[in-house]
Amino acid sequence: MSTNALRSRFIEFFEREQHRFVASSSLVPASDPTLLFTNAGMVPFKDVFLGDDKRDYSRAVSSQRCVRAGGKHNDLENVGYTARHHTFFEMLGNFSFGDYFKREAIRFAWDFLTRELELPAEKLWVTVFEEDQEAEDIWLKEIGVPETQFSRIGAKDNFWSMGDTGPCGPCSEIFYDHGAHIAGGPPGTPEEDGDRYVEIWNLVFMQYDRQKDGEMRELPRPSIDTGMGLERVAAVMQGTHDNYGIDTFQTLIAATAEAVGISGDVLESQQASLKVVADHIRATAFLITDGVMPANEGRGYVLRRIMRRAIRHGHKLGATGSFFYRLVAPLVELMGEAFPELADAQAQIERVVEQEEQRFALTLAQGMRILEDAIETMDGTEIPGETVFKLYDTYGFPVDLTNDVARERELTLDTAGFEREMNAQRERARAASQFGADYQAKLDVSEPTEFLGYTDTTAQGAIVALVQN
Ligand code: ATP
Ligand code: MG
Ligand code: MG
Ligand code: MG
Repeated sequence: MSTNALRSRFIEFFEREQHRFVASSSLVPASDPTLLFTNAGMVPFKDVFLGDDKRDYSRAVSSQRCVRAGGKHNDLENVGYTARHHTFFEMLGNFSFGDYFKREAIRFAWDFLTRELELPAEKLWVTVFEEDQEAEDIWLKEIGVPETQFSRIGAKDNFWSMGDTGPCGPCSEIFYDHGAHIAGGPPGTPEEDGDRYVEIWNLVFMQYDRQKDGEMRELPRPSIDTGMGLERVAAVMQGTHDNYGIDTFQTLIAATAEAVGISGDVLESQQASLKVVADHIRATAFLITDGVMPANEGRGYVLRRIMRRAIRHGHKLGATGSFFYRLVAPLVELMGEAFPELADAQAQIERVVEQEEQRFALTLAQGMRILEDAIETMDGTEIPGETVFKLYDTYGFPVDLTNDVARERELTLDTAGFEREMNAQRERARAASQFGADYQAKLDVSEPTEFLGYTDTTAQGAIVALVQN
């Protein structure tokens, strides 16, 4: 079953159950300053859950484009390393706004997987939030899932929230067992993070609106929000445990190989870079479609980080000139029908991508030489903060790009040293600003910002993210 066919099957299944099809909204949340990008199918419905927006339907189905590359849900650094994460992906979802609740949501999900897609029940594993006895009873007693394919999980994984505030609630997740030949253990075990058991669907029982001070306010009406990764289920349907093995990605990976000049067999050592480029062209193209432009701050800086990471991997694969923009056409071929706005923006996307490639080409090679020299001459396994800062400040290397190179060679970054350099830079800027010019404002990340979603897009934030990883 092709990825495009699967998307249609899902939408049609829920339309038959009286759900209204709602087209994917933009990756830039319409009026939500707490959120960097749309990171789940429920985002466009946030106000409906809160009771602040009324629609003329109480059941909806969608395939929402999502980006998780910053903010609360950040998978940028997973891409190239896990079989199941993308920066851009589609989330299939069915929603109830005060209409049905747990029992029906669980029944719909089970029927879609086992009847509509005819997946064998023995391959599915179910988790519930450990305090949610009601959901547990529905799964074990009504659906008949055996105890041996069932686990109770704590809040870290089974209490879903969009961000630090907003709608949230306990959840129940469905995993697919790709088989004993793949490393990994069932959910709730230390081996869970392998690729054997892959989480495919999250059913969120929306009950609360978390306030800034942590208070959990009851929502006006309990509601349902579900999210299923289209690419992960496509992998199941196409008999591969790896999302990058599905039709969409095989086509994009082949196009990448061609664009960077790989002829013949792909080496094992090239696989990760091919996945990174194939993944990042989707995030890049859709972000530009939705009006984000590469920049030095905010959303635009996240886009720039994604683009530069892809460009660096392309050059690692052997590209000598601009190559990234050439992947826009094959992407439009694959997804332009489901997303007409992507097809409409093709020429604009190509222009923006090629410009960014040309701009970065001026410093990428030089920066890489400086990094190589630093690595060769340093003692130990930590890249000096001055080098990281120089690459950032003079050569346009986002910190996570430098970290990406470091990780490939099992090295780390001197984050404290980098921060010292950043602070010194800020001091110089402050001294200069006594003359009244505000041209350094974008570098000043010491001020508290209202826009929570941006906090980790600054260099400072990048470092915080690195330290947390
Ligand atoms: P994981 O634990 O695998 O990182 P998650 O728990 O963060 O996933 P949810 O927030 O529950 O994911 O999102 C709902 C669904 O969206 C997931 O069950 C999965 O199918 C899909 N999904 C989440 N993140 C990604 C991603 N980065 N790439 C592709 N699909 C994803
Ligand atoms: Mg995740
Ligand atoms: Mg999870
Ligand atoms: Mg989940």
